[in-house]
Amino acid sequence: MVHISLRVLVGNSRKSLLPDGQCSASVNRRWNKPGAILFKSMKKTQQPMNPDDYMRLAIAMAQKVPRFPFGAVIVQRETGEVLAKGYNRSSRNPTVHGEIDVINRCAAAHVNIDWTALDLYTTAEPCPMCQSAIAWSGIATVYFGTSIPFLQQHGWRQIDIRAEEVARRTPFRQTTVIGGILEAECNALFEAAQRRGEQA
Ligand SMILES: [Zn+2]
Repeated sequence: MVHISLRVLVGNSRKSLLPDGQCSASVNRRWNKPGAILFKSMKKTQQPMNPDDYMRLAIAMAQKVPRFPFGAVIVQRETGEVLAKGYNRSSRNPTVHGEIDVINRCAAAHVNIDWTALDLYTTAEPCPMCQSAIAWSGIATVYFGTSIPFLQQHGWRQIDIRAEEVARRTPFRQTTVIGGILEAECNALFEAAQRRGEQA
């Protein structure tokens, strides 16, 4: 029992953490605590990811479609696990923005998931369609980089309603909208697309 727990907890680092023969009671107490599951998949050297790290993943998805650099990822807040990645596929279906794509992929891959335990990261502020989809899904927090006003100023077609307003006027949800995550990097994606004259 003890040895099984230790292997799960620390993997190959067991010797450095717990020399042979040392009492493992403290580890087992930690293992029994709520939230100890976090240790299960985290190696000793891994650091918890922060919003910038997840936005970098969204940027990487956006770079798959440089003409429409809207990328998004969905993350399980407690474990930090990335559950789905998506990007703008409007060339095939005009309604499949990056957020819609990642929500659809998450729904397909994770049946009966608790959506309120999830956060969404997107390179640009969700349009009213996407923010509404986020509300209907139940996703608790949205992090975005580039703002709708920035997109408008750079020639991108946008419906002139901010994501925060959609969230505020959705009485059945308490969605938090947080902008400005890696904003300069995200803005650069859309400026590059604009320079190519390929904006929507
Ligand atoms: Zn949208």
